Amino acid sequence: MSAKNKENNQFTSTCCYCGVGCGVVINKEKNGTITLEGDQNHPVNRGMLCSKGLNLHYTVNDKSDRLLYPQMRYNKSMPLQRVSWDEAMERTAAVFKTFIEKYGPDSVAFYASGQCLTEEYYVLNKLMKGFIGSNNIDTNSRLCMSSAVVGYKMSLGEDSVPICYDDIELADCFYVTGANPAWCHPILWRRVEAHKAANPEIKIIVVDPRITDSCSLADLHLQINPGTDIILNHAIGRLLIENGYTDADFIAKHTEGFEAYAESVFGKTISEAAEICGIKEVSIHLAAKYIGEAKGFISMWTMGLNQSAIGVNKNLSLINLNLITGKIGKPGSGPFSLTGQPNAMGGREVGGMANLLPGHRELSNQQHRQEVQNFWGGTVISPNPGFTATEIFEALNDGRLKAIWIICTNPLTSMPNVRLAEEALKKAKFVVVQEISNKPETLKFADVVFPAAGWTEKEGTMTNSERRISYLPKIIEPPGEALPDAEIICRFARKMNFKGFDFASASEIFKEHTKLTAKTNIDISALDYSILKAQKTVQWPYRKKSLQQGTVRLFTDNRFYTPSKKAVIKTVLDGFASEQPDADFPFVLTTGRIRDQWHTMSKTGKVSKLNKHISEPYLEIHPQDAAELNLADHDLVTIKSRRGEVRVKAKLTSNIKKDVVFLPMHWGKILNSDLNRANNVTNDLVDPVSKEPDFKFCAVSVSKYKKP
Ligand code: SF4
Repeated sequence: MSAKNKENNQFTSTCCYCGVGCGVVINKEKNGTITLEGDQNHPVNRGMLCSKGLNLHYTVNDKSDRLLYPQMRYNKSMPLQRVSWDEAMERTAAVFKTFIEKYGPDSVAFYASGQCLTEEYYVLNKLMKGFIGSNNIDTNSRLCMSSAVVGYKMSLGEDSVPICYDDIELADCFYVTGANPAWCHPILWRRVEAHKAANPEIKIIVVDPRITDSCSLADLHLQINPGTDIILNHAIGRLLIENGYTDADFIAKHTEGFEAYAESVFGKTISEAAEICGIKEVSIHLAAKYIGEAKGFISMWTMGLNQSAIGVNKNLSLINLNLITGKIGKPGSGPFSLTGQPNAMGGREVGGMANLLPGHRELSNQQHRQEVQNFWGGTVISPNPGFTATEIFEALNDGRLKAIWIICTNPLTSMPNVRLAEEALKKAKFVVVQEISNKPETLKFADVVFPAAGWTEKEGTMTNSERRISYLPKIIEPPGEALPDAEIICRFARKMNFKGFDFASASEIFKEHTKLTAKTNIDISALDYSILKAQKTVQWPYRKKSLQQGTVRLFTDNRFYTPSKKAVIKTVLDGFASEQPDADFPFVLTTGRIRDQWHTMSKTGKVSKLNKHISEPYLEIHPQDAAELNLADHDLVTIKSRRGEVRVKAKLTSNIKKDVVFLPMHWGKILNSDLNRANNVTNDLVDPVSKEPDFKFCAVSVSKYKKP
């Protein structure tokens, strides 16, 4: 079925939650509401949907929380008042012009989202880098995948997931680390489950300090101490070398750096590694055996590796396992990062980050800047990297930034050490919030509010975790005066008197974007909406129309995107950089997702069925630790770090290691209390290269809450 079947008002689209990118069939009812089901013919999910996807129509049909018209206030003590689009645009353009003239273009910033469509990202990036003349545009994808991006670039020469989902059914060993796909990427995990059910001999290794639902499928669970991932990966690398499981021919012909790597992984014995990781030596031997004997080996990871002060090194140490075994570019093999957001990939394709340019070009590359500048015909593209996510809020705090425009994200729940972000918005001279919902805390600080169209209310494209680009049709009208995000950005650009923002449709924006990818590694210059509508999805690169489904798998010719065309086996240090526990803060806190909520719950939190699974935030704590603190199940506990405090009920469980505690990351303020917010206590320390925060490791204390 094409994107729309006119006769029965059925449309095909893509789920707007996680990076799996499941296909949905949407029925538009006569009363303007929608119903949906999984698309049986979609290559990703084959008709399946998880609990979040299955309930997506409720979030669309319930308009009770929607922003309906632009709002504005002239000073911070006034309430927001309804204004026309033109008044809101006029004021915003005037304020931006004033700041840019007075303090320079780097005094303003945009903070966007991996939920934005590719076309929206494209015009935003073009506006900021090509016309305003600053690179201060970053997104919440910085909090999510940036360590994986750097890992891929350093080892494979490009931000490129090599495999496709169909490799799942061809693999016979999965090394799942720093991920709980059973809850967070459920449809992919169902494919792994089905594959295991049909082929019980395949091996699944799960690495996680917690016993999660994903562990129930595992042949081996390595319950490591938080932060010891590199030491474990090195120990496995050492055993693969010692036991002859490496692919000497592949290493010699298609990689560089093996000798230094081999030397580094022999720095610790297996027994030393086992002790530091807090697991049995025999388990490491077994993991190496499973990986070494596999014909098809997939390493699968997400936030447990990425959200770390050593996130890039963790990624590199993992990708190395695929490289030394030659398990890349072949059916059923490869490193496979699971993207958290539906279009973080599309955002990077158009260069929508502080250090990137369209077509995965690098801002630091003079030739790349010139190419894009010539194409756009705007101002000189600045060589200075823009502020990344955490840097944006630091710069608002110290006054370097005057204005911030927040699009489709909720930093007052999602930023690490979130009170700094709150202080930053208090201090900001001018805050624009572009949103669909009237719930986010950011609205309290907004000087101007732009109501945006949501999923199914606008058209555009997204790219999922396997480089698969999907077309999402507009199916229903947005409520009130809400407009598509791309239209809002283009209206603003025109108000600023910038040329090149007169797009008649999203299709025209996409066309311009595809032209800029020509001759890059992600080339989709042969792609357009008509092909996407006819074929539903294609995987990049898509250089020729004859490619049909695009490029299923990368590196099948063993030629990588590095200058030497060889993959780089990077040697990395195995030290820690996170805040360590001490007498005052003796526990390690790790944070993560729960099954039925997504991000800061602005959509999933509207669905009563989803709220029933886990209805309130909680702290997972080991029963022995609880006993030492005189805690019983459901006792109210205070979790403190050097940055703040959280108060939730204790959940005693031996699914977590002793001395480690876990908080879900979804909840923000509830009834004016912000004590549910995990990010009150998390650390804003970042990886020095990827600038991704250390969400998965900080030192906290836990005590029973006593009423004052
Ligand atoms: Fe949506 Fe992800 Fe669930 Fe698929 S797995 S239905 S993309 S939330």
